[in-house]
Parts: sequence; C-alpha cells; structure tokens
Amino acid sequence: MRWSQTYIPTLRENQSDAELVSHQLLLRGGYIRKLASGIYLYLPLMQRVIEKFSKIVREEMNAAGGLEITMSVLCPAEVWQKTGRYNTVGKELMKMKDRHDHEMILCGTHEETVTNLIAGEVKSYRQLPLNLYQIQVKFRDEIRPRFGLMRGREFIMKDAYSFDATVESQKESYQKMVDAYFRIFERAGLEVLKVESDSGAMGGSTAHEFMLLVDTNGGEETILHCPSCRYAANEEKAVFKDLNKPEIDSEMKENEVVETPNAASIEEVTEFLKVDATRLVKTLIYMADDKPVAALVRGDRSVNETKLKNAVNAIELESATPAQVEQFTKAPVGFAGPVGLKDLTIVVDPLVAEMKNFVVGANADEKHIINVNFERDFKADKVVDITTAINGDGCHNCDGTMEAKSGIEVGNTFMLGTKYSEALNAKYLDDNGKEHPIIMGSYGIGITRTPQAALEKYFDDHGIIWPVGIAPYLVEIIPLNLDKENIAAASEIIYNDLNEAGFDVLIDDRPERAGVKFNDADLIGMPIRITIGEKSLNDNKIEVKLRSSDEVIKVDVDKIVEHVREVVQTLK
Ligand code: ATP
Ligand code: MG
Repeated sequence: MRWSQTYIPTLRENQSDAELVSHQLLLRGGYIRKLASGIYLYLPLMQRVIEKFSKIVREEMNAAGGLEITMSVLCPAEVWQKTGRYNTVGKELMKMKDRHDHEMILCGTHEETVTNLIAGEVKSYRQLPLNLYQIQVKFRDEIRPRFGLMRGREFIMKDAYSFDATVESQKESYQKMVDAYFRIFERAGLEVLKVESDSGAMGGSTAHEFMLLVDTNGGEETILHCPSCRYAANEEKAVFKDLNKPEIDSEMKENEVVETPNAASIEEVTEFLKVDATRLVKTLIYMADDKPVAALVRGDRSVNETKLKNAVNAIELESATPAQVEQFTKAPVGFAGPVGLKDLTIVVDPLVAEMKNFVVGANADEKHIINVNFERDFKADKVVDITTAINGDGCHNCDGTMEAKSGIEVGNTFMLGTKYSEALNAKYLDDNGKEHPIIMGSYGIGITRTPQAALEKYFDDHGIIWPVGIAPYLVEIIPLNLDKENIAAASEIIYNDLNEAGFDVLIDDRPERAGVKFNDADLIGMPIRITIGEKSLNDNKIEVKLRSSDEVIKVDVDKIVEHVREVVQTLK
C-alpha cells in the first residue's frame, strides 16, 4: 500500500480525551476516530489490525472444531424475555421498538439467539457436540464507556457457543476453547493469564477470564495471584485467608454509646477511640435493585460489590446516596451501624461474625457504639464473604501469599450449564430415546479490545510497536528523497519484491521531509522499517531497522526479501 493512496491521518498533538497510552496512540496514529461516547470508527490501519486478529481467531476456532455463522444484531425481545435476561441484564441492554411496535433489542451477546436457533433442530445426541461461533458487532449501553476501544458501547466480539450431551463432553469442549485461546493470544504476541472469574449475569458456575497483565494504568481488572500454587482469580471472585486476624476477646462486654465528635471516617474513629481498625466494623449502605442493604465488613477491609451483589441476588447494585443513607439510618454518612437498623437486608462478612466487642456507628450524628457483638446486639440476614481480597492476603489453597496485579480482560470462557437450553427448550434425545436439555458453554474474545490492550504493553515514547501477528503492515519502506531517480527506482523494486514475496508492505511515498516520515513511522509502529537513502544506495545497500530496537543494519539491495524472511522468524 502506498501512503499517498491510503488514509492515515496522524496527529502531532496529544489528545486531551485519551487517558490511556493505547487510546492516545490509536487516535494519534490515525487508527480510530470517535463518533460519540463509546462509539468509534475504524480507519484503514485499524481495519487491517482487526482483520489480522480476526484471521488468527478464525483459524484457531476452525482448528478447534468451531463452525462460523453470523447472527443478527437486532433480535425480538421475546427470545430474551423467555430466558428472563430481558429484565435481568439491566440498562446495558439496548431496547427499542420497530415500526410495528414490536419490542426489539440490540444484542450484546448471543446466547438467546443461538440457543433459539438450535432448539428443535438439533434433536439427537448424534448431532452433538457442536460449536458455533461468529465475529460480529455487539451493542452494550455501558455505564462508563471509556478508554477508546477498551470499553465501547459498540464493539466487535468473537463469541462461540458449545452444545454437548454430557457433562464430560462439555468439559472437553470447554478445554478445547481454553487451549485455542492460549494459541490465539500467543499468535497475537500476547502472554495471557487464565484466572477464575465471577460468572455474573451469564449464569452457570465455572468461568475463566484471560487477562493481559499490564504495568500501565490501562488495567481495569485486579487479579489476585498466588505464586506458590498458581491460584489466580479476578478480585471480584478471589477468596482468601485472612493473615491479619486481630486478637479476639474471650468475654463479651456491655455495649455503650459513646460520643465521637468530628469522627466519621475509619481513620478518625480509630484515632479518636484509640483502637485498631480491626476492632471496628464498617456498615455500608447500598441499593440493590432499589432495596436497601447494609453490608458489614471489618474496619480494615473493603466491601466487594460483586460478592455482595451475588449475596443478595441483585441485578443492579449501587452505593446509597447520602440522602438515602440518612433516610435509612437516621444519621449522616459515617455513623451507620447494624444495631437497631430496620427494613434493610443485613449482610455480614464472616470476618465480622467472628469478632467480639467491636465498634460500630450508632445511627446517630457523632455517635458510635463500643463493645458490640454479633447475634447478641444485632442479627444478619446472611453471613457470607463480601470482603475484597488484597495484595498480601493468604491463599485459600496453600500457605502462599497472594499478589495483586492489574490486567485487561481480553477473553473469557463460561460453563453455562442448561440455563438457556431449558428456558428455550433446546433438548436432545439420548440413545434410549430419553430427552435432556443440552449442556452449553459460551466463549468470548474482544476483537477490538485485544489489539488496543496489546498497546498497553507494546509502545515507547515515540509510538506503537506492533507485535507481528496483528500489525497492519509488516514493513514500512521510507524512501528519503523520491526526486532522485535511483531512490525512486530502488524503492519501487523493493516494494514490489516484498509484496510479491507475500509480505504486507506500506511505502511512505509522500513528498515529506525525512523527519516527518520517521516520526510517523515510529508513531504507527510497523515492526520493520526499511530506509532507502542516497548514501547507502551508492554502495548498493539499504537500511533495515526493527521498530523494537535502535540497531540499524545495512543489507544488500538484492538480499532484502531473504533478510526480511529471516528477521520475521525472530520477531514476536
Ligand atoms: P467486562 O467485564 O470487561 O465488562 P464482560 O465480562 O462483560 O467484560 P463478555 O460479555 O464475556 O465480557 O465479553 C467477551 C469479551 O468481549 C470480553 O472478554 C472483552 O474482551 C470484550 N468486551 C466486553 N465488553 C466490551 C466493551 N464494552 N468494549 C469492548 N470490548 C468488550
Ligand atoms: Mg461487561
């Protein structure tokens, strides 16, 4: 491709609305443009990246027995009403009416459509297992679209769905996808960590996420990882052993309301009462599907909202507003406590349940209660783990200590069980003619998110450094001065030879200064740069430089194809 004939609108200046380096680079490199919040247009270079990554995904999915199909984005609400997700997915689901007043949705995922497709058509165990996948646009009205392609409202996903007759066979299907995922990400130049995850709105029990660990601020997810036994889980799900257990009193003491002027936060209360945060209990008020919930965790820990949401079976969970806190506790924020609390669901963490003589808010301004005891002074609707695991917590599996890492979720796999097949009547007959619901799995990969995620790892001060597998072009040729006949002729020959050899080549044929071309080449990040200049050419040489290294190698003009072929083997 010739630069003069394509569209690569690079930008000099940093873009103020891009917080992440990857987002910044895609905008500045002329890869994407924003249309509206969470909605992006993919320009020619991005289109090539998407195609490269999709090709890898297709090849590996096909090799794993997947069959590619395309399902519609628009779907009648009815199918989603049957599984209940029309109401349970929440505001992320885009709902609308067509001209006939039929309720429709824009799919953010396709379990309903695909199950509906096979229900009644796949009848016998002989037709199973089956794996159907697609690479297609998804819509989700994300609460916080941000970070460019990382969290869009419209984005591209590879979604696969497996159908099996037995649990054993479903496990095999699941493992095939896991293996394919590792190959896919490796070919894209990415080392990923498979972690246990919360299955959330998907239903089912076993779920994993594939995380790209990053050192930048681009990681939206926190992962707890035990280096000893390799347990790894998303913070949303991670369980832990508490290594910071405070001493527990042997006797319960009389409780007592005490004045705590100007002390509302945990720090202020520990300071004022001269007690450790591990002797305090935090009471946080949430709204779970519009019903108030009080969540109690030890003073030194935080509430895990995913665990809490699961504990109370809520679809939407939000912190109560200060006004709601006042309404339910009769006190300003900072003084909530479980004693005497009415009309709220009370969820107590096991770390709180084992404490004695602790401090809680008194549901009155500037007052706390000391020597409070669970069961004696208040009861819980549920005692369940709602604490967030943190760096340094003990591993629940072994004696190791867990480390917290930051990562980007690039893909995930879910064992769905029979939630969708039962709701949509997708059944098969076994060899005795007995009917069973089909056992399902679903498997997603972010086709637009993953390449941007890669850029949180592959960049330097000058721009992008694409891994070979998903680079829009492998080689960029920079002729330094196209007015010189010999440079123009040599560039043309090299460009054609590399193209004929099957490499993807971009030639910067613009009448720009060398500096501009070099800056743009660094910014857009093709793995191999070939510079054709007067001086070297007089010796019948051209200069080859990898984007990932500063070293410049001089190569004979007629050896360039061979050289590129060799170099590619050494690149990620
Ligand atoms: P997240 O927790 O990041 O919201 P998710 O659990 O909703 O992701 P899935 O519904 O399983 O993700 O989607 C499969 C894959 O699609 C994800 O692993 C991710 O790579 C990608 N993806 C999900 N939501 C978005 C989005 N809003 N923008 C871009 N890619 C997304
Ligand atoms: Mg999501």
